[in-house]
Amino acid sequence: MSRGPDAGRGEGTRAVHLPAPAPFSQQPFSVPVYRAASFAFDSAQEFADVMADPARGYSYGRVDNPTSDAFAAAVADLEGARLPYEVKAQAFASGMAAITGALTPFLRAGARVVAPASAYGTTSALLTGLFARFGVDVALVDIEDLAAVRAAVAGLRGGGSGEGAALLFAETIANPTLVVADLPALAGIAHDAGALLLVDSTFASPAVCRPLEHGADLVVHAATKYLGGHSDATGGVVVGRPELMAGVRADRILTGAMLAPDEAFLLRRGLETLPLRVERQCASACELAAAVRRHPAVRRVDYPGLPEHPSHEVATRLFDRGASGTRYGGCVTITPNGGRGAGLALCDALRLGRVASSLGGTHTVVSHAATTTHRQLDAAGLAAAGIDAGAVRFSVGLEDAADVVADVLQALDTLRGR
Ligand SMILES: *Cc1c(COP(=O)(O)O)cnc(C)c1O
Repeated sequence: MSRGPDAGRGEGTRAVHLPAPAPFSQQPFSVPVYRAASFAFDSAQEFADVMADPARGYSYGRVDNPTSDAFAAAVADLEGARLPYEVKAQAFASGMAAITGALTPFLRAGARVVAPASAYGTTSALLTGLFARFGVDVALVDIEDLAAVRAAVAGLRGGGSGEGAALLFAETIANPTLVVADLPALAGIAHDAGALLLVDSTFASPAVCRPLEHGADLVVHAATKYLGGHSDATGGVVVGRPELMAGVRADRILTGAMLAPDEAFLLRRGLETLPLRVERQCASACELAAAVRRHPAVRRVDYPGLPEHPSHEVATRLFDRGASGTRYGGCVTITPNGGRGAGLALCDALRLGRVASSLGGTHTVVSHAATTTHRQLDAAGLAAAGIDAGAVRFSVGLEDAADVVADVLQALDTLRGR
């Protein structure tokens, strides 16, 4: 024990200066939760050295934390495993904090960002609400229409100072249409214009697709979803080349968007089972899509694994193959006949699947897009985004596939005659 209390000191002093184990070099199996807002130094000079060069140690919880750094490094390892160049990652308090953190270093007043009209609702609101307020020029496009993307990107500007790349933003798999972005084509368009390609890969996870391998410059995740995988921790992460990540880290320190160590512990533990979970979720999602597609109550099934899905070819080209074939993702969108009312009724008729926000966890959960994730859109907006008013997004969990399929079939049966 080091630095124990000196005899004769008062109880308050003794309580604060409790004995603590001396640092030891043995590695525990897991990375412990370093629940520390501050780190002590042996000398004022050591403190000064770490402030001058943070690579030399830890100083303050908002700046760095061993548990949070371990989570970020693990994601960098998974996203960058097959790259010929080094990548780094920074951990954030949520997916939205990570998206914000991936944007601020590269945008300034007058700069343009091109993003999908179908982007995650809060991402759209962040761009068209918050960033637009600071003078960023936001162009929303149909990301499947490469000519439209190219035209919008042609207008990219770095902004006020003239330097600084502007951004093309994409999502590997869009919600709820599950359209897959043609990442190599988008990277080509962005790079031709001197811009960066930033990809939100939350719906894919690195067990399905690693966008950096397909030309993306930066990848973000809502770690809350597949990476953590148990619906018990909120977090985010940004991954990219070290020269891009330096700015991401600097802005993350300024905005105070650091991932807390308790969350980091859970998210990192989740990563250990990511390939196993995602393999099973993809296989079950495939079974579900195939089983419901000819049900008489069903108008449409969106799943990139179905040959009729508009992204089937792109997904087959970009996504990993696992033990049971190409991993087309763990989400399936089922649109029953009968519009909004039928979509809500389908959710309510489930006995195993739960109505809940979030996705990528152990439980099968559903959300009705028009009243939840895409509630900001009116009828015309839904049509423009290719979303039927009845669309229900299923995030398939780790239950037995036969039980998930049986549950959805019995729920669809209750809709017949609507
Ligand atoms: C959930 C989600 C986010 C936001 O993540 P939070 O952790 O909720 O902030 C961003 N993008 C996508 C695609 C998501 O599903």
